[in-house]
Amino acid sequence: MVLRVDSDRMRADFEALAEIGGTPEGGVARTTFSDAHFEARAWFLERGRAAGLATRVDSAANHSVVLPARDPEARTLMLGSHLDSVRRGGRYDGALGVLCALEVLRSVQDAGLELPLALEAVDFTDEEGTLIGTLGSWALTGELSAEILAAPRGGRDLLLAELERVGLSEHDLLSARRDPASLAGFLELHIEQGPVLERADTAIGIVTGIIGSSSFLIVFEGDARHAGTTPMDARRDAALGAAAFVLGVRETVTRDFPGCVATVGDIAIEPGSFNVVPGRARLRMECRSLDAAELDALEHALAVRAKVAADQWGLEVDVQRAGRWDPARTDERVRAAFTDAAGALGLSTMELPSGAGHDAQALARVTPSGMVFVPSLGGVSHDPTEHTAWKDCVNGANVLLGATVVLARSLQNGSII
Ligand SMILES: [Zn+2]
Repeated sequence: MVLRVDSDRMRADFEALAEIGGTPEGGVARTTFSDAHFEARAWFLERGRAAGLATRVDSAANHSVVLPARDPEARTLMLGSHLDSVRRGGRYDGALGVLCALEVLRSVQDAGLELPLALEAVDFTDEEGTLIGTLGSWALTGELSAEILAAPRGGRDLLLAELERVGLSEHDLLSARRDPASLAGFLELHIEQGPVLERADTAIGIVTGIIGSSSFLIVFEGDARHAGTTPMDARRDAALGAAAFVLGVRETVTRDFPGCVATVGDIAIEPGSFNVVPGRARLRMECRSLDAAELDALEHALAVRAKVAADQWGLEVDVQRAGRWDPARTDERVRAAFTDAAGALGLSTMELPSGAGHDAQALARVTPSGMVFVPSLGGVSHDPTEHTAWKDCVNGANVLLGATVVLARSLQNGSII
């Protein structure tokens, strides 16, 4: 018999969770350590307790609901995602994965199944990067370092202020590492956040790997001069370097790195007025690849491109790295378990890479990990209109449940990567 989750229970919980930090536009605003974020995390633990499950909060504030195994020494199969959101987020990103993980634990318990591994549904801290990005999963896997803490994505001042406000220290974050030998694997359900599954009319995506990304702050320096009195041939216009670089990024990627993407997502021109030649341009650029060596080469090529643009317009340029997430391959056994579980439910599947970063990216470095995607309506995500049909959510939860039961048995004695 194929085990199934309780769709009504899960739906009621989904609706209740979406109310926490809910916005008039129908999305959620639950940035890391906001009141709504804390409320959602407390609600999650309470739902676990209400089901008679154990709970834990580690020193990186990762929140977990646990279904222990009979053997207290048993390793743990983790499932989960994140309850934080971007500023104007949707209801599904992260939250659906945490809820489905909780529902899997409840369904295993309800069925009276005794599995040889503990099951842990986890809500990782700051996946979306209000402070650092995948902070909780990096802390848990030991990837968080003093170097990362020194230059966090949201700025060092914000990180320190927020940690102090919520009673955490950098030492706490660095102490949250779990011994990989205690983990048997990690499974994450997530909305696709792209249009591939919907276009292919496919219920379940089996993620082959999670794309790596690097982000950079790039500053072109010229001279701010009077826009009326400075001849065109006597200018060092920083905006021209920025413009040449933006076009150059696109040319380099499309010509030399098919399959990769790169984006200049922000340009700030200084001093920023009608009548002053721009003296400085600050750019935020990121690039992504599924392969670590290719990502290295792409980073290098884009840095060279910045230098070429600067030379072309007589400028100085400074390129600083602001973050790097290595690409990660998912585990073959986990992919097979998802495929088999979907097959047993009569659901269509396809394999696809993840173009977005996820907590599974960190976990994949220390334990067999995999991800299952469910379709996103119109491919929309990080927006209040983000939507996944409820039947697709339930299908995903059932695949997660089926794979969990199989993997809890097969990974019991499996060796760590
Ligand atoms: Zn997410």
